[in-house]
Amino acid sequence: MVIGRPVEHSLSPVIHNAAFEALGLDWGFFALSVPPGGVADAVAAMRNLALAGMSVTMPHKDAVVDLVDARSPAVALLGAANCLWWRGAELVADNTDGIGFVDALHHDAGFEPRGRRAVVFGAGGAARAVIAALASAGAAEIVVVNRTRARAEVAASLAGPSGRIGTAEDVVDADMVVNASPVGMGDEALPFDPSLLGRGHLVIDLIYEPMATPLVLAARERGAVAINGLGMLIHQAAHAFRHWTGEDPPIEVMSASATAELARRRTVSPQP
Ligand code: NAP
Repeated sequence: MVIGRPVEHSLSPVIHNAAFEALGLDWGFFALSVPPGGVADAVAAMRNLALAGMSVTMPHKDAVVDLVDARSPAVALLGAANCLWWRGAELVADNTDGIGFVDALHHDAGFEPRGRRAVVFGAGGAARAVIAALASAGAAEIVVVNRTRARAEVAASLAGPSGRIGTAEDVVDADMVVNASPVGMGDEALPFDPSLLGRGHLVIDLIYEPMATPLVLAARERGAVAINGLGMLIHQAAHAFRHWTGEDPPIEVMSASATAELARRRTVSPQP
């Protein structure tokens, strides 16, 4: 199951149920709306009912960390988890957002971050996971641009000597630019001036609903390669799936199920 609040629009049930079916596993995945303060009960239910796995989304990613038996290195660094799984009798928390992001770079854009310069807009949970993963993948420089400077400092520190605070102008000299803010989700706003972009830039907008985000469209108009956040979502889910089932995740099936569901939602409730 996935716990969160709100959680009704989570794509995780669609993605994981499609993967279970593709592999012939008689498993089911559902969303559970859990209020703040209800996380301990949800994790206790996982233990008592011997549920095989749990995804965790906002606002519970921090709270679950204190309720498990063991934490992955990513969770120890970030203080936030998105996935609980059983290693024998031990309940383990992992954070697969960062590795999912790097996998999406490889899989969806053919991009190797080692030795490259990145600018990340935002300093929240998603940005921190991305920054830590890019540093771990050997990015040469990771520049954090964020509205609140104190949060930018914390986020940049996750990259060690490769991290620093910057401004939107740092986009010009970057190889890749990540929007890890919600700017452009549900409106036409852009996180920075797209005239700073050109050929040679890779842009990743972590937003995936709408699939063609304002930033993705503006970046492509400027000749940059641009992808949305669906690949990150799929690949973080793939790591969770492997933890839970021990099986190789059917990435293409997972991706197709999410794309179809987003298209269905767009038909039911068209974007303005
Ligand atoms: P979060 O923890 O709330 O952080 C949001 C960040 O965006 C903060 O740094 C915040 O700045 C900044 N921000 C918010 N509104 C802004 C505005 N109007 N102008 C400029 N900056 C603004 O959120 P999150 O969990 O990191 O999620 C960030 C985005 O990533 C969301 O769009 C989310 O849907 C997406 N996401 C995608 C995936 C995926 O798998 N593709 C996974 C996780 C998240 P302050 O520090 O100044 O408040």
